[in-house]
Amino acid sequence: MFNAKAYAAASATSGLAHVQIKRRDPTPHDVQIEILFCGICHSDLHMVHNEWSSVMPTVYPIVPGHEIVGRVTKIGPAVTKYKPGDIAAVGCLVDSDGSCPQCKADLEQFCPNLTLTFGSPDKHGTAPVTYGGYSDSIVVDERFVLRIPSNLNLAGAAPLLCAGITTYSPMCRWGVTKGKKVGVVGLGGLGHMGVKFARAFGAHVVVFTTSPNKKQDALRLGADEVVVSRNADEMKKHAFSFDFILDTISAEHDINAYLNLLGRDGNLTLVGAPTKPLAVAAFALIMGRRSFSGSNIGGIAETQEMLDFCGKHNITADVEVIPIQKVNEAYERLVKSDVKYRFSIDMASLKSE
Ligand code: NAP
Ligand code: ZN
Repeated sequence: MFNAKAYAAASATSGLAHVQIKRRDPTPHDVQIEILFCGICHSDLHMVHNEWSSVMPTVYPIVPGHEIVGRVTKIGPAVTKYKPGDIAAVGCLVDSDGSCPQCKADLEQFCPNLTLTFGSPDKHGTAPVTYGGYSDSIVVDERFVLRIPSNLNLAGAAPLLCAGITTYSPMCRWGVTKGKKVGVVGLGGLGHMGVKFARAFGAHVVVFTTSPNKKQDALRLGADEVVVSRNADEMKKHAFSFDFILDTISAEHDINAYLNLLGRDGNLTLVGAPTKPLAVAAFALIMGRRSFSGSNIGGIAETQEMLDFCGKHNITADVEVIPIQKVNEAYERLVKSDVKYRFSIDMASLKSE
């Protein structure tokens, strides 16, 4: 084992601070990575504040972070895909059983024996739970390590590992393509990636935001239209017209307001994960034979496919690069929807701790 620097929260209210953690020495199939950038996902914040306690109670201390880009520093003797010096990435998953029907279908994110990048029981016994990317290093089985196309900026590529795949996957599944009218609800980390992908797929993109000051950005990011969702008249204009809507809102909201914008056979996919249940009105689904579904990140193969797509189309997140010392401030801003449009932590800042 070796010591690594990290930022951890000791409790739901403590905020994050510098700690030392243990990482395992690479086993035969492991890749050791020096972390260069790690994105801040709203899921990190939900977990730090124990907001998902009914489904996934947080174990403290928690080291969040699952949008990781770095450089390989060491490999185990059986590793074939990576060598020291390579740029490599890690997303939300670091292990799965590899044998269940979900893994066989390349949907490791639904494996019952999945290991998340942070907060899952640590099979290797290095620590009680896995520790994530707010750290100077991580050790991961090579099956869960991904490649970043060489033309992409690394700070902006980090958020692709969660915000990217979470928005790309449902759009592929629900056939977002040229000629479709697509809504993206919430212009934060996930939402702004959703706009970029919907645009790249050729759809007509409408952004729904509660922040009028994000209007110009939404257009610049690729939206054809922007609706301030608190304006009932603007909302009404789009009734019964969408093929697909992606809902990325992190907090409680009226889901029926968006279901009612779907046309016949339209689908609304929820990727946002608010703490409290959402009330669905029966008639919002019955009328128009609409469907309401969810989606969770994506499997490893699809994540690599998404990264390669981003390489080809030169897509990265719009990031505000921050030193790790500003992480608590960034969390306060996330709560206020004040994010443009993803925080990416420059992990070199951890060296001074
Ligand atoms: P984020 O950057 O904080 O963006 C969320 C956006 O939602 C905000 O910028 C805001 O956009 C809107 N919003 C926030 N509070 C709102 C409210 N009370 N009413 C209406 N709109 C509100 O968060 P994120 O990192 O994109 O994550 C979004 C959600 O997805 C989180 O719940 C996160 O845990 C979840 N998530 C799910 C998956 C998955 O696999 N399913 C993966 C990653 C994250 P406007 O200012 O434009 O209104
Ligand atoms: Zn995430």
